[in-house]
Amino acid sequence: MRPSILFPLFAETRTLPGIGPRLEKMIARVAGTRLVDLALDLPSGIIDRSYRPRLIDAQEGRIATFVVNVLDHLPPFDRRQPYRVRCSDDSAIIELIFFRADNSYLTRTLPLGSKRLISGRVERFNGKLQMPHPDHVLAPEEAANLPMQEPVYGLTEGLPPKSLAKAIRASLEKVPPMAEWLDPEYLRRRGWTTFGAALHAAHAPQSEAELQPTAPDRMRLAYDELLANQLALVLIRARLRNVKGRSLKGDGHLKQKAIAALPFSLTPAQSQALAEIEADMAAPARMLRLLQGDVGAGKTIVAFLALLDAVEAGTQGALMAPTELLTRQHMAALAPFAATTGVRMALLTGRERGAPREQILAALAKGEIDILVGTHALFTDDVTFRDLGLAIVDEQHRFGVHQRLQLQSKGTTDVLVMTATPIPRTLALTAYGDMDVSRIAGRPPGRQPIDTRVLPAERLEEVVAHLRGAIAKGARAYWVCPLVEESEKIDLAAAEERAGELRELLGPKVGLVHGRMKGAERDTAMAKFKSGELSVLVATTVIEVGVDVPEATIMVVEHAERFGLAQLHQLRGRVGRGSGKSTCLLIYASPLGETAKARLKTLRETDDGFVIAEEDLKLRGAGELLGVRQSGMPEFRLADLAAHAELLAAARDDAKLILSRDPELKSPRGEALRVLLYLFERDEAVRYLRTG
Ligand code: ADP
Ligand code: MG
Repeated sequence: MRPSILFPLFAETRTLPGIGPRLEKMIARVAGTRLVDLALDLPSGIIDRSYRPRLIDAQEGRIATFVVNVLDHLPPFDRRQPYRVRCSDDSAIIELIFFRADNSYLTRTLPLGSKRLISGRVERFNGKLQMPHPDHVLAPEEAANLPMQEPVYGLTEGLPPKSLAKAIRASLEKVPPMAEWLDPEYLRRRGWTTFGAALHAAHAPQSEAELQPTAPDRMRLAYDELLANQLALVLIRARLRNVKGRSLKGDGHLKQKAIAALPFSLTPAQSQALAEIEADMAAPARMLRLLQGDVGAGKTIVAFLALLDAVEAGTQGALMAPTELLTRQHMAALAPFAATTGVRMALLTGRERGAPREQILAALAKGEIDILVGTHALFTDDVTFRDLGLAIVDEQHRFGVHQRLQLQSKGTTDVLVMTATPIPRTLALTAYGDMDVSRIAGRPPGRQPIDTRVLPAERLEEVVAHLRGAIAKGARAYWVCPLVEESEKIDLAAAEERAGELRELLGPKVGLVHGRMKGAERDTAMAKFKSGELSVLVATTVIEVGVDVPEATIMVVEHAERFGLAQLHQLRGRVGRGSGKSTCLLIYASPLGETAKARLKTLRETDDGFVIAEEDLKLRGAGELLGVRQSGMPEFRLADLAAHAELLAAARDDAKLILSRDPELKSPRGEALRVLLYLFERDEAVRYLRTG
């Protein structure tokens, strides 16, 4: 339960005076639905109102503040004309211009003959000094209310800046005094103030410098957020370690058969990762490990060998992938090994229904299936294993802490999570700080580097010509169509159109896969591509994750400038999987923006997913890196992982130290830290305190 001192802060924004349904909706779009969301929505800019020239000296285009006398009102003759109010100081005259004005409001706020403080952008029109829609009009006695440095917040269409600023100010008043949760000595050394003071100051920046992530107040706030994140992860980790696991140790008889049947030998990196996994499984504590490895690094075989270990130990294994396509591919890749080892495997996705599904479930419960491969359907309630020893989750950047916890609740199962998206160290720590990490660096030997070229769309014909030649020699190519985030329909139309054109230019061996296709249709197209019946596969990004056709050697990406760095890297990783020389053609539409340019340059220069991930973080910021919402990555509102990596490391150490001294958070500082956890909505972690 959230502590009561936080209740006012977690009230809905609509409880504020002046916020009706319309404003509420717009505010929800930029910040959120609760006051805390407003309070943590820091300004992105600043308007300097300290420029106070005489009217006669005022430079046009600048924001300026004047004290003026109201001379006269000039209402318009018709509605298309603006309402004008003439004012002056002793040096010159300025006209305040109001379009679609509310006359009575103007006569009230700018009474004839009165003195007024006005602030806004100065313009000159037909030689006359003007101020269209002043930002502020105040009586002189209210001068203190005019912020000389006014914070600017991110807006959405139709949301008046003043309404948002007012709501934010109101939300700040609801921030209660809270006991300090940071170590006083640490606070002193950093030169930081309290959370409340830092938050107020961050909303009242006095200079551009104070808007930077490295400004002390912003650092303090970022640290608090990161500390909450790290405390939660360390708590969850401790809790999970507490759950009794068991030791799973195979005798190697299946594994040896499988390894003997492999057409290659494991790389040192693969062996190392496998050894780490096996050591975890053999240990009495429960395994919670992340296996990171670039696209094509060869994680699948490592996963399968670990599953065999679990089977040798007399338990069952499960391998879960995010899409049906991938589960089927895994199944197909592993089937030969299953045959040589005699291990019984089955597939369970949303598509298995009725009697076949019942059969699988029954066999699973009886232990007649050793390894179950499937989508998340695999962890629904009616699926019962006789004894699940190891669960592996593949390609899982859509799989957050909550899902991991859910999985953990399924008994004493060891858990291995695999991600093909190399994640920067900092991000890995915020997202997977509760897990141990193995990395498979590099790729299996024998791969030739992929020749990456960046071309403007004007050269599309050349690309098609090149493709025609390559296909004639038996090459296979992916052709990825633009990603238009707003609408899947448009994506699809573009892909269909392109497939049609390519069919005209290249002949009938051009196929299409997209996200809206039924599973069976998509599988058919993929299978035809794999078998060579199709030589060009036009695709929306459904092929991004994990598709494996070693014969494919050409990857064409249209509108490459619209894809993120990590995404392009993933796409490129679809080729260069076999022994043939591969090419990746990144086609962009001119003009190319700075970020897009930097992105494409990085891709041309490196092939190391971890380097690319770090670069992506720098270019885009963590929020966008993986598409936070779908990714299960934690969202940070105050911390900026690209800028605050050092703070993250400190918060990590701090969290560990705190919990080693006060595992239940019962000391006075511990109590304060509980409030911090609730403030940043790490409620899940606090629950572990209570039950643990
Ligand atoms: P990912 O890490 O992306 O899941 P995969 O497991 O799909 O990569 O492996 C990519 C390809 O590399 C597969 O075709 C696999 O058979 C092959 N492969 C895996 N390990 C090795 C190895 N040690 N030597 C050669 N090829 C390998
Ligand atoms: Mg894989």
